[in-house]
Amino acid sequence: MLSVKKLEAFYGDFQALFGIDFEIGESETVSIIGSNGAGKSTFLKTVCGQLKAAPSAIIFAGEPIGGKPANEIVAKGIAMVPEGRRLFRSLTVEENLLMGGFAKRSGPWNLKRVYQLFPALEEKRNNLSTALSGGQQQMVAIGRALMANPKILICDEVSLGLAPIVVKGIYDALPKITSDGLAVIIVEQDIDTAMRVSDRVYCFMHGRVSLKGRSADLTKNQISDAYFGI
Ligand code: ATP
Repeated sequence: MLSVKKLEAFYGDFQALFGIDFEIGESETVSIIGSNGAGKSTFLKTVCGQLKAAPSAIIFAGEPIGGKPANEIVAKGIAMVPEGRRLFRSLTVEENLLMGGFAKRSGPWNLKRVYQLFPALEEKRNNLSTALSGGQQQMVAIGRALMANPKILICDEVSLGLAPIVVKGIYDALPKITSDGLAVIIVEQDIDTAMRVSDRVYCFMHGRVSLKGRSADLTKNQISDAYFGI
């Protein structure tokens, strides 16, 4: 569904990505791991149209989308759950969710389905988003992205600042999210969580893919070599 070939990315003269190859198919969950500065966020920014890329370096549903503006990319079906959630603080839970539906793509996701996925949000639908716990705020951020009915959901650092039990509760929802074809890309600092919840893993180091494979097949040694460059 998404095929990235020889992707390079720059901040001015500084090159942050060097020839990244990446694939994800329908219903797959793929995680990207790597230490600070490895290039994970830069990769997400190029896929979402926040950073320039060569058109043919990113092919989505058969169409070159590299360098297209972010709003066009959302409309085509790639939605992002940003690091830090970035909810609208003055809006209620339900209003935040409705903001996600502005792209007006048709598909299975609506308020009812988001509330089925995360029942805690229905109970708090009229509360300001700021009145929720960190985990519930993360659920709102995921629900808001799902309301755009994407084909690919990109989650940046979902677990940041959350207790492990809360993180588990959120990731336990993944099978219900991918059940009708949606693909999920996860950027995770927590390697064990990344391995547990994803079908495949890419490890980035210094702007390159240092390891890729099926999560079930990779050994801890392979991962620490690729992660720390030992
Ligand atoms: P982290 O886990 O810390 O977010 P990351 O893997 O997401 O790390 P990136 O943020 O993509 O890494 O950074 C990749 C490289 O690009 C780093 O060397 C970083 O210093 C550099 N970089 C990131 N953002 C900018 C920017 N706005 N301007 C210049 N260089 C940047």
